[in-house]
Amino acid sequence: MKEVIVTAPHAYEIREVPIPVLTSEYEVLVKMKAAGVCGSDHHIYHGKNPNTIYPRIPGHENAGIVEKVGSRVSKVKVGDHVVADLLITCGICYQCRIGRKNVCETVKVRGSSADGGFREYLSVPEDDLYIVPNHIPFKDAALVEPYAIGAHCTGRGKVVKDDIVFILGTGTIGSIILQTCKNIGCTVICCDRVEETLERAKKYGADFIINNAKENVIERVREITAGKGATVAFDSACFPGSLTSLFEKGLIRNAGRIVSLGFSTENESISQAMLDIRELDLIGSRMSCYQFQPVIDKMANNGFNLDGIATTFINFNEIDRMFDYMDHPDPKVKKMVLLFD
Ligand SMILES: [Zn+2]
Ligand SMILES: [Zn+2]
Repeated sequence: MKEVIVTAPHAYEIREVPIPVLTSEYEVLVKMKAAGVCGSDHHIYHGKNPNTIYPRIPGHENAGIVEKVGSRVSKVKVGDHVVADLLITCGICYQCRIGRKNVCETVKVRGSSADGGFREYLSVPEDDLYIVPNHIPFKDAALVEPYAIGAHCTGRGKVVKDDIVFILGTGTIGSIILQTCKNIGCTVICCDRVEETLERAKKYGADFIINNAKENVIERVREITAGKGATVAFDSACFPGSLTSLFEKGLIRNAGRIVSLGFSTENESISQAMLDIRELDLIGSRMSCYQFQPVIDKMANNGFNLDGIATTFINFNEIDRMFDYMDHPDPKVKKMVLLFD
């Protein structure tokens, strides 16, 4: 089989290797059909993912068909369509015991701290697989993981119907948070500096859009919210300073929540007063936790607008094109998905 391995920042090889042999009775061999390309895959290639040790096979948004099962596997059978969870966790630490396995003491992530799915076959323990109904195309099943992020972070932000949500950054994850909040019934304000992504946000149901390259964000939010501010804000822009900008007076009202999704190592400029005077909740959010199944169920019932989330489909045999887009970003290529046949 073929696998793609990033050997060092900005260096990769396409290798011909044996198909993995199942090493446990509970393991499953999955023939890959589609793999989403996520921001973290870009970061691995560019040497900007602090959790990556090279060489590494990227890819954590993996959908495929069960090809072979270990003797004790009971959850899936040959021919099932599946997606693989990205988390590899211990199951016994404090976090695992309280249902927060995404921040397990020893969490490993397929595709960054462990090898991922940019290869033709992947072996996975059965517990890490979720069955996807056959009517969901693999190219869509590969989007279960980013939608699980949307479900997780909106859960972390305790989003309810009455919320007025402010989303900074309307790329892939911002668009998914938007769709998730609209499903809950919230009013959503999307803010970005790229007009095209704001237009797309409108298509996904954004009630208000703000172009922060052209408009005064605080003034617009005041206008929209009768001077009170949003009740919850998501930072899916994730550039240094983006989190601090959500604390600006007028953006979030007293007792509001701010959910951060970024991994910038730069210091932000948040004072105690900025957090405490309005008694805001500042909430961290990482990947997702137990959200694959609910997302698959929702996707099976056409609960999301997947049109335009993945913008670019690339055959695995032409993976050079994916790296080419990583080297030379094209604003039209927002999210790539690799297809395996
Ligand atoms: Zn992802
Ligand atoms: Zn654990």
